[in-house]
Amino acid sequence: MPASAPTTPNSSGWNFDNSYARLPAMLHEQLEPTPVKEPRMVVFNHALAQSLGLNASALAERAAIFAGNELPEGAEPLAQAYAGHQYGHFTGLGDGRAILLGEQITPTGERYDVQLKGSGPTPFSRRGDGRAALGPMLREYIISEAMHALGIPTTHSLAVVTTGEKVFRQESLPGAVLTRIAASHIRVGTFEWAAAHRDQSALQALADHTLQRHYLALVTAEAPYLALLEAVMERQARLIAQWQCVGFIHGVMNTDNVALSGETIDYGPCAFMDAFDPATVFSSIDRNGRYAYGNQPQIAQWNLARLAEALLPLLHADEKQALELANAAIESFKTTFEGHWLTGMRAKLGLFTEEAGDRALIESLLTWMKEQKADFTNTFRALNPAETAPQEGPAFAAWHAQWQARLKLQPQPANEVLAHMRAHNPAVIPRNHKVEEALAAAMEHSDLSVMQRLLNVLAKPYEDREVQSEFTTPSGLAPGAYQTFCGT
Ligand code: AMP
Ligand code: MG
Repeated sequence: MPASAPTTPNSSGWNFDNSYARLPAMLHEQLEPTPVKEPRMVVFNHALAQSLGLNASALAERAAIFAGNELPEGAEPLAQAYAGHQYGHFTGLGDGRAILLGEQITPTGERYDVQLKGSGPTPFSRRGDGRAALGPMLREYIISEAMHALGIPTTHSLAVVTTGEKVFRQESLPGAVLTRIAASHIRVGTFEWAAAHRDQSALQALADHTLQRHYLALVTAEAPYLALLEAVMERQARLIAQWQCVGFIHGVMNTDNVALSGETIDYGPCAFMDAFDPATVFSSIDRNGRYAYGNQPQIAQWNLARLAEALLPLLHADEKQALELANAAIESFKTTFEGHWLTGMRAKLGLFTEEAGDRALIESLLTWMKEQKADFTNTFRALNPAETAPQEGPAFAAWHAQWQARLKLQPQPANEVLAHMRAHNPAVIPRNHKVEEALAAAMEHSDLSVMQRLLNVLAKPYEDREVQSEFTTPSGLAPGAYQTFCGT
């Protein structure tokens, strides 16, 4: 190992306890970030820093720390080992361009991973350079903060620094490092790694660690590992339902991008849908639409089946019984997901109670939206139960009348219904062209004001306020015309 980098004083608020570093050695490789030429702070998330117990104003000036040139006190840097099914195919992966600095314990006793992404090569880099380009790191910053504001569990972005070095993709681009904050970076792929190496003690240590960290109440369960599987499924079902309810398309739902914490992780080719169409795909490499909007629930179930497989040796000593337990759990996913989806969609329509026809009511609206190529976000936000003669044509008017009749079956007054709807139908999402505009200004003119303006709008997506139409107008691009790129 190289000599340790200088450490920063504790007055910065660092308070590390690195439990992952104490897990079996097959799960990680100790190494330090590779220093960069000229670290420069681009964005720093003051509110997040404060919630982590960090001295925000002092650290905002310390680009060297967020570039990996200096280590915060108490850091024990490591690259995490993991595997994954990518587009259905199993591969050994690991942090090829990320380094976990450690786990920050917040003033309220919560534990968060502090990870540098783009921090240089690791033993898992394969043919990659271990680096990241500024555009995709700013994109992750914007979208993850938008997701958080929408109330969807997600990793967070603490900082983006430029490195003063170039990275080469199809072209030469400015290099950057993102500091990612996560409840943990434990993935379905992490379990697949231990299982693939047939290392049962590491597998069990990882499962125990995950229970301790994310599902403490289950530690004493009668069958804790089955309970773990079921609890992870529950969180994933809820998460994917939340994605569906805002039109978020992750784009690369490989098993290495599924966090056991239930947070959205790995913002690569993700984007929000404009016109409603379940077949929508943005990722340029997802040619078969495996990760299309409408496939996300089934793919989540498929990914959880890979987790169940990895956990088999812990589920039951008898292989056949283990398989039966796993299958029963995985089969329940569809029902669990649909429950969360119905809850989310009911809220979007202002429904407080449950009626047998609710699913059909929701689906007929979605069918209309698909036929009309209606904007997903704006259609829901514009719904108004008090409207008497909707302008959208007879099919919509008929649906609207049905909806009004349904609303009469519940006791809540109209103002309460509308307030509920406003709290569940965002006025603003990160529109693709607005994100691109912010990135272009940052990259081409070093102008961060455009991104800051966008972040300010995205921070309060449900609020009733005058939002300039530039933030609510769909891009106008035909579906397929906006492509996002992986291999970022
Ligand atoms: P992702 O598509 O970002 O989920 O990454 C998939 C895998 O590729 C992970 O193991 C990453 O660490 C690795 N990877 C992505 N980009 C690079 C890079 N520039 N250098 C090395 N490894 C990379
Ligand atoms: Mg990944």
